Amino acid sequence: MNKTILVTGGSGLIGNGIQSFVNKNNINKYNFIFLSSKDCDLRNQNDTRKIFLKHKPDYVIHLAAKVGGLFANMNYPVEFYRDNVLMNDVVMELCHEFKVEKLISCLSTCVFPDKISYPIDETMIHIGPPHSSNAAYSYAKRMIDIMNQSYNKEYGCNFTSVIPTNIYGPNDNFNLENGHVLPALIHKAYISKRDNTDFIIFGSGKPLRQFIFNKDLGELFLYVLENYDSIEPIILSVDEEDEVSIEDIAYLIAEAFDIDKSKIKFDKSKSDGQFKKTASNKKLRTLLPEYKFTKLKDGIFETCNWFKNNYENVKKIAKKLYVENGQYVVPRSKDEWVYDVLVKDNGTNICTVGFTKTQTEGALFFNNFEDINKYYDDQDSIKRIAKEYALSHGVPW
Ligand code: NAP
Ligand code: GDP
Repeated sequence: MNKTILVTGGSGLIGNGIQSFVNKNNINKYNFIFLSSKDCDLRNQNDTRKIFLKHKPDYVIHLAAKVGGLFANMNYPVEFYRDNVLMNDVVMELCHEFKVEKLISCLSTCVFPDKISYPIDETMIHIGPPHSSNAAYSYAKRMIDIMNQSYNKEYGCNFTSVIPTNIYGPNDNFNLENGHVLPALIHKAYISKRDNTDFIIFGSGKPLRQFIFNKDLGELFLYVLENYDSIEPIILSVDEEDEVSIEDIAYLIAEAFDIDKSKIKFDKSKSDGQFKKTASNKKLRTLLPEYKFTKLKDGIFETCNWFKNNYENVKKIAKKLYVENGQYVVPRSKDEWVYDVLVKDNGTNICTVGFTKTQTEGALFFNNFEDINKYYDDQDSIKRIAKEYALSHGVPW
């Protein structure tokens, strides 16, 4: 009988990379189960146990996480810490309970100490504090390594972790405010081309990053599952010489959208975050010396084309917002909310309109992604609907 691989976060960026690799290469020796948050909330142990009981996984690839770019990490540190610690705790304990043969979890290069010698390698995770901009996420992620070691020491579990650098590709979260740099810039470039406006890059453009294509990662995850037998983490990254600046990727994206260079502007009032986190892929290269990564330009062009072709249906444009009372909130400065108005249509709750102290701005708290997608990119509609509902609820606008 085929072994079952349960992939948590299977609907996300890496999950889609694995699905795409599996489909393209007709890999049918495993029974893959790709989970999304709709299958269960992994922060809830009882619900997650039902999933384990149903699928009885032999292997688990644990991708699910509260994930976001620099600015989301700076705005929501509590959610980035708690959601990740809770999910990791539940998944690991169930992998132990269900005697899963191998668990692969995901760290990230931003978990490494801020002040460190370069290139970073797998031995350096715990030797100093992470960068302050994403400390909450980093500490939550670092605990995965501690838990892997502990479960192995006490119960002999085969739990390991991989450390990807910045990832990009089709099916990413293209949210303008909460997304990682590459998807956020692709979305901005799309709007800049469409509206003939400036293409604004946050920060100086000087920080350096190593980007890995999600489809390459899909392949490497399966490689690690089948061939990597250590509980110590392994960095999954392109080579050091493939590190590029944010400015470099902005120019590539502009080229993909045929945006004139004069339109590219840098907003230096915004944070640069960590200047660099150059990672060594020596461990991976020892195992796979000949592996050919997708060239950055090819991967970026493919992702830009995917975004253009799927723009109307990109389901994740407004995802990964914070959730309040079960509702997805279009992000603004949430501290400013003074009250909100629930909007109903034929008895169905459609959205809540939130009002800021000045009441010059409104935003909608939607009950489902479809509604968000309909309005989020269209600020005029948001304002119009907010105003309509404000006035109909006797709220001055
Ligand atoms: P992603 O696209 O944001 O997807 C996150 C996945 O987690 C989605 O499938 C989501 O389900 C699921 N999820 C979130 N909260 C959940 C919950 N409470 N219960 C159940 N499922 C939940 O993430 P990704 O970029 O593929 O990242 C995968 C892993 O790689 C993460 O551990 C991340 O920390 C790590 N990583 C990412 C990057 C990067 O650049 N993206 C870099 C380094 C490491 P829905 O689709 O239903 O929301
Ligand atoms: P990080 O790699 O973990 O720091 O996270 P990101 O993927 O969010 O990349 C952050 C870097 O990209 C910082 O240097 C930002 O200043 C820069 N950047 C430029 N424009 C944007 C943008 O629109 N969104 C994001 N998230 N970062 C941007």
